[in-house]
Amino acid sequence: MTTALPRTAVPPRTTDQEARVASPTPVASPAALPLDPAPTAMVWLEPDRPHEAVAVPSVVLAPGDALVEVELATICGSDVHTTRGDRTAPAPLVLGHEQVGRVVALGPGAVAVDGTPLAVGQRVVWSLTVSCGDCATCRRDLPQKCGSVRKYGHERLVTGWELSGGFATHVHVRSGTAIVPVEADLPAGLWAPVSCGTATAVAALDAAAAIVPLDGAVVLVTGAGLIGLTATALATDAGARVVVVDPDPARRRLAVRFGAVATVDPTAAPDSDDGLGTAFSVAGGAPLVAVEASGSPHAVASALAELGVGGVAVLVGSVFPAPAVPFDAESVVRRLVTVRGVHNYAPRHLVDAVRFVEERHAAWPLDGLVGETAALRDLDAGIAAAAAGGSVRVGVRPE
Ligand SMILES: [Zn+2]
Ligand SMILES: [Zn+2]
Repeated sequence: MTTALPRTAVPPRTTDQEARVASPTPVASPAALPLDPAPTAMVWLEPDRPHEAVAVPSVVLAPGDALVEVELATICGSDVHTTRGDRTAPAPLVLGHEQVGRVVALGPGAVAVDGTPLAVGQRVVWSLTVSCGDCATCRRDLPQKCGSVRKYGHERLVTGWELSGGFATHVHVRSGTAIVPVEADLPAGLWAPVSCGTATAVAALDAAAAIVPLDGAVVLVTGAGLIGLTATALATDAGARVVVVDPDPARRRLAVRFGAVATVDPTAAPDSDDGLGTAFSVAGGAPLVAVEASGSPHAVASALAELGVGGVAVLVGSVFPAPAVPFDAESVVRRLVTVRGVHNYAPRHLVDAVRFVEERHAAWPLDGLVGETAALRDLDAGIAAAAAGGSVRVGVRPE
């Protein structure tokens, strides 16, 4: 398949929906939903301290809200960074923002991203962010930076929204979230990573394709984690020839299975078998697109340096503090290079990510991205496994 990713139109929210979005407490006074057994959330307090299980005996669903029973969550790199203390986070906090589950209760008027009513029993994924849809930033199609944005797995625990992260038996999905129904029959491991890693890869290539057509382009991907591997498959589907850089030989072999025409060990000499120059020769020239998914300052500098004339560097991995990268402004000017930052994504990217998994799960080894899976009560062991880096994703399954 060599077509570019199709865009999906997301209908604008109605004024009625906007009015009830992103309110921390229900605007009406709906009855509390009694739940037996009570949903459980794993609460993170500080680095090097085990998570604590907290029971949430009742949930109040406002109009547009949904209560979803988690089938499988996956541990994103940012969860690992938070628990290690690499970046600050408000505690107490329920981490987790990659998950798939089934709707068990709905507030009045709850709808999917395309405006169709949701039903109890539907299998769904949902956006990382809750957005108002109406502020200046939302109107500029950057809902992930909404002025009143709330993010699953990133918010201090508050009364009324205790089930705010994926490391729980249930998630209280709030109005203002893009909810996308997914195939009931595919393995949960295909779906759980979609709401962060996969959709972010779609957003990264969307940003690149706005500058350089992917069909026929050489694309450099640095970092063969979930975003990098997914971007490799997406770009290959769009007709690109992809070179993947990663220090881990196992990840480089995996990148080939995701479509890479050549892989690079960043420590190898450029003209050696595993070197950058050799890989560009195989791919057919200098890259016009770079997707930097590692966050390594060295990789950022390399992505900027290697781009050909008119190329675009999409920086997506730099989501934790790191040393500043030297920036050769003259070189960027003379090569007419574009640098774009991509953080999270818009609802249409999630819709496209779901479509990609539905259509391409047999073409690419997407089902192998989730390796070992920990029980929810063993979340700390799961996070330790994720930090060790053996699997692209470690799963977390409520028992
Ligand atoms: Zn994430
Ligand atoms: Zn907004």
